[in-house]
Amino acid sequence: MNAFAHVWYYISILRICQCVQGQKTFFVQGVDKSIFLVYDALVKAKASLSIKLLDAFAFFIFLADPKKPFHRIAVFRLSFFFLTHSFRFTSSVKRRANLMRTVSDYFGCLVFDDRVMKARLNADIYQSLHKTIDQGAKLDAGVANAVAAAMKDWAVEHGATHYTHWFQPLTGITAEKHDSFISPAPDGGIIMDFSGKELIKGEPDASSFPSGGLRATFEARGYTAWDPTSYAFIKGRTLCIPTAFCSYGGEALDKKTPLLRSMEALNRQAMRILKLFGNEDVKCVRTSVGPEQEYFLVPKELYEKRKDLIYTGRTLFGAKPPKGQEMDDHYFGVVKPRVAAYMADLNEELWKLGILAKTEHNEVAPAQHELAPIYTTTNIATDHNQLTMEIMQKVAAKHGLVCLLHEKPFAGVNGSGKHNNWSIATDTGVNLLSPGETPYENAQFLLFLCAVIKAVDDYQDLLRISVATAGNDHRLGANEAPPAVVSIFLGDELQGILDAIENDTPYEAAKKKTMKLGVDVLPRFARDTTDRNRTSPFAFTGNKFEFRMLGSSNSIACANIMLNAAVAESLRIYADRLEGAEDFEEKLHEMIQKTIKDHKRIIFNGNGYDEAWIREATEVRGLCNYPTTPDCIPHSLDEKNVQMLTAHKVFTLAELKSRCEIQLENYCKTVVIEANTMIDMARKQILPAVESYTAELSGTVAAKRTVAPELACLYETGLIYKLSRLTDQIAVKTDDLEESLLELKSVSDITEEAYAIRDAVLGKMAALRTVADEAETLTAEKHWPFPTYGELLFGVR
Ligand code: ADP
Ligand code: MG
Repeated sequence: MNAFAHVWYYISILRICQCVQGQKTFFVQGVDKSIFLVYDALVKAKASLSIKLLDAFAFFIFLADPKKPFHRIAVFRLSFFFLTHSFRFTSSVKRRANLMRTVSDYFGCLVFDDRVMKARLNADIYQSLHKTIDQGAKLDAGVANAVAAAMKDWAVEHGATHYTHWFQPLTGITAEKHDSFISPAPDGGIIMDFSGKELIKGEPDASSFPSGGLRATFEARGYTAWDPTSYAFIKGRTLCIPTAFCSYGGEALDKKTPLLRSMEALNRQAMRILKLFGNEDVKCVRTSVGPEQEYFLVPKELYEKRKDLIYTGRTLFGAKPPKGQEMDDHYFGVVKPRVAAYMADLNEELWKLGILAKTEHNEVAPAQHELAPIYTTTNIATDHNQLTMEIMQKVAAKHGLVCLLHEKPFAGVNGSGKHNNWSIATDTGVNLLSPGETPYENAQFLLFLCAVIKAVDDYQDLLRISVATAGNDHRLGANEAPPAVVSIFLGDELQGILDAIENDTPYEAAKKKTMKLGVDVLPRFARDTTDRNRTSPFAFTGNKFEFRMLGSSNSIACANIMLNAAVAESLRIYADRLEGAEDFEEKLHEMIQKTIKDHKRIIFNGNGYDEAWIREATEVRGLCNYPTTPDCIPHSLDEKNVQMLTAHKVFTLAELKSRCEIQLENYCKTVVIEANTMIDMARKQILPAVESYTAELSGTVAAKRTVAPELACLYETGLIYKLSRLTDQIAVKTDDLEESLLELKSVSDITEEAYAIRDAVLGKMAALRTVADEAETLTAEKHWPFPTYGELLFGVR
């Protein structure tokens, strides 16, 4: 409070004292306190008009004459009113002030980020911690204790009572087990306690997390280890510490450990290349990711009436609504107020957690939307994307909505994916996938570009595997998302350059310089950001690659692990050759040219949705086409893949085997749950509904005929025939499906089970759906037992 206001209000308080004759000290003190409280709130809210009003109030009191009874009463009344209303008034001002806070005021307020560390740690501790963060140096116990204490104090001040090691087990979602900070004090009270040891390592009982046979059952414990490169944050009342999760044997049981390993592998190999190009100042290389996240919003009350959405996250039945996405009127369309309110709330929650939510818009399908953050270091982007998915669902619940993250919630309209925008950058801020200014920089750029081309071609199967789930199988190749065949889009300009290099022919745009003689003549060229091919699985977009095959509910860790590892392998091969080269430039040119020749089959600049392309890709170019999850997963254990991933220490053989098993198991369980849900819905909801409508129709016929026996009742009887035929079919197909599930029980091998599901169960599910959906189109609305596609897709208004 400024000095002038202080004096001014103090005089008013004295005057109040005089007016109420100094007897009611309690009352006067109360007014005294509230006047200052309100003033502070108003100043914080920058409410200058209200401050003037408050001044007027003080001025009026100042003018009052204590000797006049009428004045005394007025002052007393006014003060009493002020006293009784000030609390409510202050909180409403504060609330308004909160709304008026600018994003920069609260961005990251729930994150123990660098700003907080700097402010709360002493300089030595801060520096040691940074050494750990930047260079992976070991943290000594003293430093860990100091960091833990500061973290705890900060968290407790922000209302936290618990802490958790937050990790990403192989279930695909995040896991947390909360421990409170409390610790008994000798006097019977408690102290809030958190040690360095508790910060660095946790020991959750891990026996219920999938391990694919990695963890013997007698050794149930796993341990979590702090990842200091990803900031701790507060969620609700819990301090969350991002961690990696391993078994006691040291095998990774999560997605973060191999991701960190893959980033390290790429860093090691990229550094070798950068040294060769004379970049002495670069200390490390990191990959960055910006994941665009698609999702659907549906009304909660409708969601709750559909067992399929509740149990499986997608609709298993549902006739086509009269309107779908054919008008193309939703993409980038005006966001409805209810959705806009959701997005605003979501942004605020994400910003508080330091997540750089940036772009939001409507997507192609009705009720479908997208959120894209600004890119950041891959492991942080991965943590943030997991958090984003979680917060999306939480905020939706507050708005009476449900956020569907499934890859294919609705048949007949687009499903949801996640675009993984990926690039490699040095700690000095150079994007290695950005064409440079000078020929020399461009040579370096072309080498990294070739490393990616070679990686994607050599390990196309691993990239396909990294996005394989039962849910994503519905999208890939369904003319709404890239096909299951991996290929790269480069755009005309880059293609022109590569062609010129490959054939030693002049490059037109570079004034007919030949591309033959090594780095000196590689031309300067502009970035090509205009040519956006939306149908390509892996597109170069000017200074980054966009991997578009990920499903919306996938963790982005898997795709980035494979991508980083595969590129590390290309770079290793290049570095091995270049380090031993007599003539660096000649060798460089030769290698770039060889890569283009050997791997051009993976480059395709045309329409990826075209049937002819799939034929050409598989029959002429020999690219892999694995349409379903069971087709591709077993290839993760192919010799070349095991060799590469173990050589770069991204996975051990045991870890690979376990992951392969878990992915197949996950596929099988997902489809079996879906099939069981269909059986349940068919028998308990759909059949009874159609039967009751048929009975009603029959009743109508009977009733009509009692009145007029000669009536034909063609409409009713026709419908009764149709519906009876359909109920029979629904019943038979439900039994069929159940039988195919029973047959699975006799299959003991998980790969065989996955094949059986792919070949038998999925077809039976589709057959049951066809007849049930037909019945829906013929059944009266009031008899249909759950909300329709039309209601779900157009229900948020
Ligand atoms: P579009 O929908 O056209 O693909 P968006 O603007 O929605 O583009 O998303 C682009 C994403 O790419 C954003 O998340 C952005 O932060 C990210 N991105 C931009 N530059 C890079 C980069 N160098 N590395 C990784 N991601 C990047
Ligand atoms: Mg995109």
